[in-house]
Amino acid sequence: MPDIIQLLPDNIANQIAAGEVIQRPASAVKELLENAVDAGATEIKLLINDAGKQLIQVIDNGKGMSETDARMAFERHATSKIRNIDDLFSIKTMGFRGEALASIAAVAQVELRTKRAEDEAGICIEIENSTVKNQQPVAMETGTSIAMKNLFFNVPARRNFLKSNPSELRHIVDEFIRVAMSFPEIFFSLSSNGQQVFHLERGSLKQRIVQILGNTYNAKLVSVHEQTDYLDITGFVGKPETSKKTRGDQYFFVNNRFIKSAYLNHAVMKAFDEMIGKDSYPMYALFINLDPAQIDINVHPTKQEIKFEDERIVYAFVESAVKHALAQFSITPTLDFDLDGSIQHLDAVSKPFTEDKKSSASSSSLFNTFTKSNQAHFIENKSELGHWKDFYEKPAAQTHFKPLTAGLETDDSSATLHAPVLHAQFISENVFQLHSAYIIVQNDNGYLLVNQQNAHERILYERFLHAVDGKAIAAQQSLFPVSIDLTATDSVLLHELLPDLQQLGFILEPFGNNSFVVSGTPADVSQGNEKNAIEKMLEQYKHFSSDLKFSKREKLFRSLALQQSIKSGTTLSQKEMSGLLNDLFACNTPNSTPNGKPTYMTFKKEELDKMFGR
Ligand code: ADP
Ligand code: MG
Repeated sequence: MPDIIQLLPDNIANQIAAGEVIQRPASAVKELLENAVDAGATEIKLLINDAGKQLIQVIDNGKGMSETDARMAFERHATSKIRNIDDLFSIKTMGFRGEALASIAAVAQVELRTKRAEDEAGICIEIENSTVKNQQPVAMETGTSIAMKNLFFNVPARRNFLKSNPSELRHIVDEFIRVAMSFPEIFFSLSSNGQQVFHLERGSLKQRIVQILGNTYNAKLVSVHEQTDYLDITGFVGKPETSKKTRGDQYFFVNNRFIKSAYLNHAVMKAFDEMIGKDSYPMYALFINLDPAQIDINVHPTKQEIKFEDERIVYAFVESAVKHALAQFSITPTLDFDLDGSIQHLDAVSKPFTEDKKSSASSSSLFNTFTKSNQAHFIENKSELGHWKDFYEKPAAQTHFKPLTAGLETDDSSATLHAPVLHAQFISENVFQLHSAYIIVQNDNGYLLVNQQNAHERILYERFLHAVDGKAIAAQQSLFPVSIDLTATDSVLLHELLPDLQQLGFILEPFGNNSFVVSGTPADVSQGNEKNAIEKMLEQYKHFSSDLKFSKREKLFRSLALQQSIKSGTTLSQKEMSGLLNDLFACNTPNSTPNGKPTYMTFKKEELDKMFGR
């Protein structure tokens, strides 16, 4: 037998490696923008054609490259940003791996033009399949322009894997915003198919936020600014009244790098605590800066997670800083505040976080800056929790007690999977509501316990399915059309969903500049709630959008069903309850929500009799 192992040819090895870094047009956009920032540019222009599939070009006025560097830049592991392993712990630049340009050159046709201030002429290099095809001098201003054309032209499998243009464009806009938000001192613009989408003049962070997220935030931002020896935080949070039903406007940056952190997000939400309603999301753009040695950014290049040396300190700090800012805002609403030094002395910040440190942190002056009424709630909730626990634990302690559901789990679980045989319609006198959340109804051999919200979700979902197959859901005209302003990202998303939404009874039209006009909604949506309904639907949709197994439409249906369903806590009339039950059992799959939660359970009279020794 001959030996069988061979080295992969360079171009194939490069293409495989590129897959790690350049997954879609937006990843290339991020890399090119970051390179321009690292080059010290004060003006960065991004041009996109065909959602980046045909062209992505970044033009900057940064320091440019020498002829040798320009050729070198496309080699794998070629970087000017680190020289040895120690440098990894003091990274001040956005890039450092030396992989981006090599990856881009492996999967697109690239034209680089670059000139340094000290050089007479610039140089233009064309590259295809990781090989230089052409090189010549050009006359140009100092700076760099990198154009990448026909992304994945040589990797058709990847090209076919790309999403629709609106979807890829949405990812590009996301990346653009993340970089533009971190560097308000740099001019940024974005054009798509020759049309300008963003034109962001240089200015303060506050101005940049308003430019990007919209005028609604003007005069509605509270500045967050705290400094300690360990780390500092600057940025803005939206005043409570600007919070939205959709999570879009939330940004964390660590050393100017955008990160996603559910953990730190939780810290901000905790700081807002009772100031905003449940299901509301406050805007924030917070910049945490700390010694690069305290974080590990050496994770995967396209991942946005970050590891902190001690995450809990950062959590406590973020929560305190936001609380502090909000507390001051409630006293002096229109001013930007000077910080006081109290956070510096907060144990949570200056020392490692242990259980007893936690309690001392919570009794510190900073922690007490928020209002008394909130604290009263805090205590109240806690005592409620105690009762609830008692209630839950006591029956379990009595071992001879057989829980109601026991019968369900053992001999008769299949009973819950069939619609109960109920020939007659549910008659309204025989239905009862419990806790404004459950409906109880007698049947031949026992009773059903229906969860109203789950049941309604199923009903709506099937209604939507029918609506796209055949007859559209009728829209009710709104008395007053309302306009909604969305972030650029949400606006691209809503554009994508428009045709289906129209079929489902929304009268919705784009109105330029990320705005839409709603002039009608399905009958279930109450007048005056149009805006809310759409924002909530978008939020829910985005929540599903990482779920690749669902189609766009499926996600929309699930989001709308969830969002429009009658919530627990809603008191229903007898008539509404029997209507709900009749609708439920007219469904094709009445027994569960689209997500598989049960809509009802059946309980047998026999079981009750047994329990009571009858
Ligand atoms: P990294 O950014 O990790 O160093 P890249 O592959 O993105 O790796 O870039 C390689 C090198 O090319 C950079 O280290 C930098 O020296 C040079 N470079 C890339 N883009 C630019 C630019 N826009 N202006 C000046 N130099 C650049
Ligand atoms: Mg780079």
